[in-house]
Amino acid sequence: MDCVRASAPQLQGLVPYDPKYLPAEAMLSANENPRDVEDSIREEIAREVAAVALNRYPDPLANDLRDLIAEANGLTREQVLIGNGGDELLFNIALAWGGAGRRMLNLPPTFSVYAANARLTGTEVVNIPRLEDFSIDEDAVLERLGAGDIDIVVITSPNNPTGECAREEFIQRVLEATDALVLVDEAYFEFARRSVLSYLAEHKNLIVLRTFSKAYSLAGVRMGYVMAHSDVIRELIKVRQPYSVDAVSQAIARVVFANRASFEARIDEIIAERGRVMEALAAIPGVKPYPSDANYILFAVEGADQAWAYLYDRGVLIRDFSSSAMLEGTLRASIGTPEQNDAFLAALEDFVSGK
Ligand SMILES: *Cc1c(COP(=O)(O)O)cnc(C)c1O
Repeated sequence: MDCVRASAPQLQGLVPYDPKYLPAEAMLSANENPRDVEDSIREEIAREVAAVALNRYPDPLANDLRDLIAEANGLTREQVLIGNGGDELLFNIALAWGGAGRRMLNLPPTFSVYAANARLTGTEVVNIPRLEDFSIDEDAVLERLGAGDIDIVVITSPNNPTGECAREEFIQRVLEATDALVLVDEAYFEFARRSVLSYLAEHKNLIVLRTFSKAYSLAGVRMGYVMAHSDVIRELIKVRQPYSVDAVSQAIARVVFANRASFEARIDEIIAERGRVMEALAAIPGVKPYPSDANYILFAVEGADQAWAYLYDRGVLIRDFSSSAMLEGTLRASIGTPEQNDAFLAALEDFVSGK
Protein backbone atom coordinates (compact mmCIF):
# COMPACT_ATOMS: atom_id res chain seq x y z
CA MET A 1 0.00 0.00 0.00
CA ASP A 2 1.45 3.36 -0.95
CA CYS A 3 -1.22 5.31 0.85
CA VAL A 4 -2.45 5.51 4.43
CA ARG A 5 -5.85 6.33 5.81
CA ALA A 6 -6.30 9.62 7.65
CA SER A 7 -5.09 9.96 11.23
CA ALA A 8 -7.57 10.59 14.06
CA PRO A 9 -10.04 13.41 13.36
CA GLN A 10 -8.84 15.55 16.27
CA LEU A 11 -5.45 15.89 14.52
CA GLN A 12 -6.85 17.46 11.37
CA GLY A 13 -5.71 21.07 11.13
CA LEU A 14 -3.45 20.74 14.18
CA VAL A 15 0.04 22.22 13.68
CA PRO A 16 2.93 20.48 15.53
CA TYR A 17 4.48 22.58 18.31
CA ASP A 18 7.48 24.48 16.93
CA PRO A 19 9.61 26.37 19.44
CA LYS A 20 11.45 28.08 16.55
CA TYR A 21 14.67 27.25 18.30
CA LEU A 22 17.55 28.43 16.07
CA PRO A 23 21.24 28.60 16.95
CA ALA A 24 22.30 32.08 18.13
CA GLU A 25 24.95 33.73 20.31
CA ALA A 26 22.35 34.99 22.76
CA MET A 27 19.60 32.39 23.21
CA LEU A 28 16.79 34.45 24.70
CA SER A 29 13.79 32.67 23.21
CA ALA A 30 12.89 29.78 25.50
CA ASN A 31 13.03 31.21 29.04
CA GLU A 32 15.85 28.88 29.98
CA ASN A 33 18.34 29.73 32.69
CA PRO A 34 21.25 31.37 30.84
CA ARG A 35 23.75 29.65 33.15
CA ASP A 36 24.29 25.90 33.09
CA VAL A 37 24.50 23.87 36.31
CA GLU A 38 27.73 24.84 38.07
CA ASP A 39 30.76 22.54 37.91
CA SER A 40 30.76 21.36 41.54
CA ILE A 41 27.15 20.21 41.18
CA ARG A 42 27.91 18.63 37.79
CA GLU A 43 30.64 16.57 39.44
CA GLU A 44 28.18 15.31 42.02
CA ILE A 45 25.74 14.54 39.19
CA ALA A 46 28.46 12.59 37.35
CA ARG A 47 29.06 10.44 40.44
CA GLU A 48 25.36 9.73 40.94
CA VAL A 49 24.77 8.97 37.27
CA ALA A 50 27.75 6.61 37.23
CA ALA A 51 26.02 4.57 39.95
CA VAL A 52 22.72 4.20 38.05
CA ALA A 53 21.92 0.63 36.92
CA LEU A 54 21.24 1.20 33.24
CA ASN A 55 19.94 -2.33 32.68
CA ARG A 56 17.15 -1.92 35.26
CA TYR A 57 13.85 -0.10 34.87
CA PRO A 58 13.71 3.10 36.89
CA ASP A 59 11.54 3.55 39.97
CA PRO A 60 8.28 4.37 38.12
CA LEU A 61 7.21 7.09 40.55
CA ALA A 62 10.70 8.43 41.39
CA ASN A 63 9.91 8.05 45.08
CA ASP A 64 13.29 9.32 46.33
CA LEU A 65 12.78 12.59 44.46
CA ARG A 66 9.12 12.71 45.50
CA ASP A 67 10.22 12.46 49.13
CA LEU A 68 12.74 15.29 48.75
CA ILE A 69 10.15 17.57 47.15
CA ALA A 70 7.42 16.57 49.60
CA GLU A 71 9.61 17.22 52.62
CA ALA A 72 10.73 20.62 51.33
CA ASN A 73 7.09 21.65 50.93
CA GLY A 74 5.62 20.15 54.08
CA LEU A 75 3.73 17.49 52.13
CA THR A 76 3.64 13.71 51.93
CA ARG A 77 5.00 11.61 49.07
CA GLU A 78 1.40 10.86 48.01
CA GLN A 79 0.80 14.56 47.31
CA VAL A 80 3.63 14.83 44.76
CA LEU A 81 3.98 13.43 41.25
CA ILE A 82 7.06 13.67 39.03
CA GLY A 83 6.80 14.01 35.24
CA ASN A 84 8.99 14.01 32.14
CA GLY A 85 8.96 17.79 32.14
CA GLY A 86 5.99 19.81 33.29
CA ASP A 87 4.64 19.29 29.79
CA GLU A 88 4.01 15.60 30.39
CA LEU A 89 2.06 16.38 33.54
CA LEU A 90 -0.03 18.94 31.65
CA PHE A 91 -0.93 16.19 29.20
CA ASN A 92 -1.74 13.79 32.03
CA ILE A 93 -4.04 16.39 33.59
CA ALA A 94 -5.86 16.76 30.24
CA LEU A 95 -6.19 12.97 29.99
CA ALA A 96 -7.45 12.55 33.53
CA TRP A 97 -9.78 15.56 33.89
CA GLY A 98 -10.58 16.29 30.22
CA GLY A 99 -11.95 14.16 27.42
CA ALA A 100 -15.10 14.03 25.34
CA GLY A 101 -17.95 15.98 26.89
CA ARG A 102 -15.62 17.76 29.34
CA ARG A 103 -14.62 21.45 29.42
CA MET A 104 -11.44 23.37 30.17
CA LEU A 105 -11.51 27.06 31.05
CA ASN A 106 -8.52 28.81 29.44
CA LEU A 107 -7.33 32.41 29.81
CA PRO A 108 -5.62 33.39 26.54
CA PRO A 109 -3.20 34.68 25.55
CA THR A 110 -1.30 32.04 27.52
CA PHE A 111 0.90 28.94 27.11
CA SER A 112 -0.31 27.20 23.93
CA VAL A 113 0.22 23.66 25.29
CA TYR A 114 -3.04 23.70 27.34
CA ALA A 115 -5.28 24.23 24.31
CA ALA A 116 -3.28 21.73 22.22
CA ASN A 117 -3.70 19.06 24.92
CA ALA A 118 -7.42 19.83 25.15
CA ARG A 119 -7.76 19.32 21.46
CA LEU A 120 -5.86 16.02 21.47
CA THR A 121 -8.05 14.69 24.27
CA GLY A 122 -11.33 15.93 22.81
CA THR A 123 -11.81 18.44 25.63
CA GLU A 124 -13.87 21.51 24.80
CA VAL A 125 -11.97 24.76 25.43
CA VAL A 126 -13.91 27.67 26.94
CA ASN A 127 -11.83 30.83 26.44
CA ILE A 128 -12.11 33.90 28.63
CA PRO A 129 -9.70 36.35 26.96
CA ARG A 130 -7.51 38.53 29.13
CA LEU A 131 -8.12 42.29 29.27
CA GLU A 132 -6.16 44.84 27.23
CA ASP A 133 -3.29 44.94 29.78
CA PHE A 134 -3.26 41.09 29.87
CA SER A 135 -4.71 40.95 33.38
CA ILE A 136 -7.38 38.27 33.93
CA ASP A 137 -11.04 39.20 33.40
CA GLU A 138 -11.76 38.03 36.94
CA ASP A 139 -15.48 38.81 37.00
CA ALA A 140 -16.05 36.98 33.71
CA VAL A 141 -14.17 33.92 34.98
CA LEU A 142 -16.08 33.76 38.26
CA GLU A 143 -19.38 34.26 36.48
CA ARG A 144 -18.61 31.51 33.95
CA LEU A 145 -17.62 29.11 36.73
CA GLY A 146 -21.03 29.72 38.28
CA ALA A 147 -22.60 27.66 35.49
CA GLY A 148 -21.00 24.59 37.11
CA ASP A 149 -20.01 22.85 33.87
CA ILE A 150 -16.24 23.41 33.85
CA ASP A 151 -13.97 20.45 34.64
CA ILE A 152 -10.51 22.09 34.53
CA VAL A 153 -9.47 25.70 35.08
CA VAL A 154 -5.93 26.70 34.05
CA ILE A 155 -4.32 29.73 35.68
CA THR A 156 -0.69 30.38 34.73
CA SER A 157 1.07 32.43 37.38
CA PRO A 158 3.27 34.13 36.24
CA ASN A 159 1.54 33.91 32.87
CA ASN A 160 3.57 32.92 29.82
CA PRO A 161 4.17 34.90 27.63
CA THR A 162 2.60 38.01 29.19
CA GLY A 163 4.57 37.93 32.46
CA GLU A 164 2.42 38.76 35.47
CA CYS A 165 1.16 36.64 38.35
CA ALA A 166 -2.55 36.15 38.91
CA ARG A 167 -3.85 37.89 42.05
CA GLU A 168 -3.84 35.54 45.02
CA GLU A 169 -7.28 36.73 46.14
CA PHE A 170 -8.62 35.83 42.71
CA ILE A 171 -7.18 32.31 42.82
CA GLN A 172 -8.69 31.87 46.27
CA ARG A 173 -12.12 32.92 44.97
CA VAL A 174 -11.80 30.51 42.03
CA LEU A 175 -10.96 27.65 44.40
CA GLU A 176 -14.08 28.46 46.39
CA ALA A 177 -16.35 29.06 43.39
CA THR A 178 -15.89 25.70 41.65
CA ASP A 179 -15.19 22.03 42.24
CA ALA A 180 -13.34 21.90 38.91
CA LEU A 181 -9.69 20.93 39.10
CA VAL A 182 -7.86 24.28 39.33
CA LEU A 183 -4.39 23.99 37.78
CA VAL A 184 -2.07 26.80 38.85
CA ASP A 185 0.96 26.57 36.57
CA GLU A 186 3.86 27.96 38.60
CA ALA A 187 6.63 27.13 36.09
CA TYR A 188 8.19 30.54 36.84
CA PHE A 189 7.29 30.97 40.51
CA GLU A 190 10.93 31.13 41.63
CA PHE A 191 11.26 34.47 39.82
CA ALA A 192 8.06 35.81 41.42
CA ARG A 193 8.91 34.43 44.85
CA ARG A 194 5.17 33.86 45.33
CA SER A 195 3.10 30.69 45.34
CA VAL A 196 -0.43 29.54 46.15
CA LEU A 197 0.78 26.17 47.43
CA SER A 198 -0.48 26.93 50.96
CA TYR A 199 -4.08 26.73 49.67
CA LEU A 200 -3.58 23.00 49.17
CA ALA A 201 -4.33 22.41 52.84
CA GLU A 202 -7.97 23.46 52.44
CA HIS A 203 -8.69 23.03 48.73
CA LYS A 204 -8.80 19.52 47.35
CA ASN A 205 -9.39 20.96 43.86
CA LEU A 206 -6.00 22.75 43.64
CA ILE A 207 -3.05 21.36 41.68
CA VAL A 208 0.22 23.30 41.47
CA LEU A 209 2.68 22.61 38.64
CA ARG A 210 6.42 23.34 38.81
CA THR A 211 9.44 22.57 36.65
CA PHE A 212 13.21 22.18 36.87
CA SER A 213 13.54 23.70 33.38
CA LYS A 214 13.65 27.38 34.25
CA ALA A 215 15.13 28.44 37.60
CA TYR A 216 17.03 25.16 38.06
CA SER A 217 18.87 25.14 34.72
CA LEU A 218 17.60 21.68 33.69
CA ALA A 219 15.58 22.28 30.50
CA GLY A 220 17.73 19.63 28.81
CA VAL A 221 16.84 16.97 31.36
CA ARG A 222 12.98 17.04 31.29
CA MET A 223 11.83 17.15 34.86
CA GLY A 224 8.66 18.62 36.33
CA TYR A 225 6.32 17.95 39.23
CA VAL A 226 2.85 18.62 40.52
CA MET A 227 1.59 18.95 44.07
CA ALA A 228 -2.05 18.20 44.92
CA HIS A 229 -4.33 16.19 47.19
CA SER A 230 -3.35 12.49 47.24
CA ASP A 231 -6.70 11.58 45.62
CA VAL A 232 -5.89 13.89 42.68
CA ILE A 233 -2.39 12.42 42.34
CA ARG A 234 -3.92 8.92 42.34
CA GLU A 235 -6.04 9.77 39.30
CA LEU A 236 -3.01 11.14 37.46
CA ILE A 237 -1.05 7.97 38.20
CA LYS A 238 -3.79 6.01 36.39
CA VAL A 239 -3.07 7.80 33.08
CA ARG A 240 0.68 8.28 33.17
CA GLN A 241 3.20 6.19 31.25
CA PRO A 242 4.80 4.00 33.96
CA TYR A 243 8.46 4.63 33.03
CA SER A 244 8.34 8.12 31.57
CA VAL A 245 10.85 9.51 34.08
CA ASP A 246 14.15 7.75 33.42
CA ALA A 247 16.69 6.77 36.09
CA VAL A 248 19.40 9.16 34.85
CA SER A 249 17.05 12.16 35.01
CA GLN A 250 15.89 11.11 38.47
CA ALA A 251 19.48 11.04 39.69
CA ILE A 252 20.27 14.45 38.18
CA ALA A 253 17.14 16.05 39.62
CA ARG A 254 17.83 14.64 43.09
CA VAL A 255 21.27 16.27 43.13
CA VAL A 256 20.00 19.59 41.80
CA PHE A 257 17.06 19.69 44.21
CA ALA A 258 19.32 18.87 47.16
CA ASN A 259 21.57 21.76 46.05
CA ARG A 260 18.73 24.17 45.29
CA ALA A 261 19.92 26.78 47.80
CA SER A 262 22.97 27.39 45.62
CA PHE A 263 20.69 28.50 42.75
CA GLU A 264 19.33 31.42 44.77
CA ALA A 265 22.10 33.82 43.78
CA ARG A 266 21.53 33.31 40.07
CA ILE A 267 17.76 33.67 40.54
CA ASP A 268 18.46 36.97 42.33
CA GLU A 269 20.65 38.04 39.43
CA ILE A 270 17.90 37.29 36.91
CA ILE A 271 15.37 39.24 38.99
CA ALA A 272 17.76 42.21 39.17
CA GLU A 273 18.48 42.01 35.45
CA ARG A 274 14.74 41.87 34.75
CA GLY A 275 14.40 45.24 36.47
CA ARG A 276 17.28 46.70 34.52
CA VAL A 277 16.03 45.38 31.14
CA MET A 278 12.50 46.58 31.93
CA GLU A 279 13.74 50.13 32.58
CA ALA A 280 15.91 50.13 29.49
CA LEU A 281 13.05 48.89 27.29
CA ALA A 282 10.68 51.51 28.66
CA ALA A 283 13.23 54.17 27.71
CA ILE A 284 13.36 53.14 24.03
CA PRO A 285 10.93 55.28 22.02
CA GLY A 286 8.02 53.24 20.62
CA VAL A 287 8.79 50.17 22.75
CA LYS A 288 6.16 49.13 25.30
CA PRO A 289 7.24 46.47 27.79
CA TYR A 290 4.60 44.68 29.90
CA PRO A 291 5.27 44.19 33.62
CA SER A 292 6.84 40.82 34.48
CA ASP A 293 7.15 38.59 37.55
CA ALA A 294 9.04 35.98 35.52
CA ASN A 295 12.39 35.56 33.70
CA TYR A 296 11.17 37.12 30.45
CA ILE A 297 9.58 40.35 29.24
CA LEU A 298 6.90 40.69 26.58
CA PHE A 299 7.02 43.96 24.69
CA ALA A 300 5.28 45.66 21.80
CA VAL A 301 7.29 47.42 19.12
CA GLU A 302 6.42 48.90 15.74
CA GLY A 303 7.44 46.46 12.99
CA ALA A 304 7.85 43.61 15.46
CA ASP A 305 8.49 40.91 12.85
CA GLN A 306 11.27 43.02 11.26
CA ALA A 307 12.67 43.73 14.71
CA TRP A 308 12.81 39.98 15.38
CA ALA A 309 14.77 39.35 12.14
CA TYR A 310 17.09 42.32 12.82
CA LEU A 311 17.90 40.97 16.29
CA TYR A 312 18.49 37.49 14.92
CA ASP A 313 20.96 38.89 12.39
CA ARG A 314 22.75 40.47 15.33
CA GLY A 315 23.03 37.08 17.08
CA VAL A 316 20.11 37.58 19.47
CA LEU A 317 17.30 35.01 19.31
CA ILE A 318 14.05 36.06 21.02
CA ARG A 319 10.50 34.73 20.61
CA ASP A 320 8.23 36.17 17.93
CA PHE A 321 4.57 36.42 18.94
CA SER A 322 3.83 39.18 16.44
CA SER A 323 1.38 37.08 14.46
CA SER A 324 -0.14 35.16 17.38
CA ALA A 325 -3.76 35.81 18.31
CA MET A 326 -4.17 38.54 20.97
CA LEU A 327 -0.39 39.17 20.94
CA GLU A 328 -0.12 41.00 17.61
CA GLY A 329 2.94 43.22 17.42
CA THR A 330 4.72 41.68 20.41
CA LEU A 331 8.01 39.88 21.04
CA ARG A 332 9.24 38.09 24.17
CA ALA A 333 12.81 38.26 25.39
CA SER A 334 14.07 35.92 28.09
CA ILE A 335 16.36 37.46 30.69
CA GLY A 336 19.89 36.23 30.00
CA THR A 337 23.29 37.05 31.43
CA PRO A 338 24.06 40.79 31.77
CA GLU A 339 26.17 40.56 28.57
CA GLN A 340 23.35 38.87 26.61
CA ASN A 341 20.86 41.42 27.88
CA ASP A 342 23.17 44.24 26.79
CA ALA A 343 23.47 42.70 23.31
CA PHE A 344 19.69 42.43 23.11
CA LEU A 345 19.09 46.02 24.23
CA ALA A 346 21.79 47.46 21.96
CA ALA A 347 20.37 45.64 18.93
CA LEU A 348 16.82 46.73 19.68
CA GLU A 349 17.91 50.35 20.19
CA ASP A 350 19.68 50.24 16.82
CA PHE A 351 16.60 48.77 15.14
CA VAL A 352 14.33 51.47 16.53
CA SER A 353 16.71 54.29 15.61
CA GLY A 354 16.91 52.89 12.06
CA LYS A 355 20.59 51.94 12.07
C1 LIG B 1 8.25 25.97 30.49
C2 LIG B 1 6.83 25.84 30.94
C3 LIG B 1 6.29 24.65 31.48
C4 LIG B 1 7.01 23.35 31.65
O1 LIG B 1 8.08 23.13 30.89
P1 LIG B 1 8.88 21.75 30.98
O2 LIG B 1 10.18 22.09 30.36
O3 LIG B 1 8.06 20.77 30.20
O4 LIG B 1 8.97 21.38 32.41
C5 LIG B 1 5.00 24.66 31.94
N1 LIG B 1 4.24 25.75 31.85
C6 LIG B 1 4.70 26.89 31.34
C7 LIG B 1 3.81 28.07 31.31
C8 LIG B 1 6.00 26.97 30.85
O5 LIG B 1 6.42 28.11 30.30
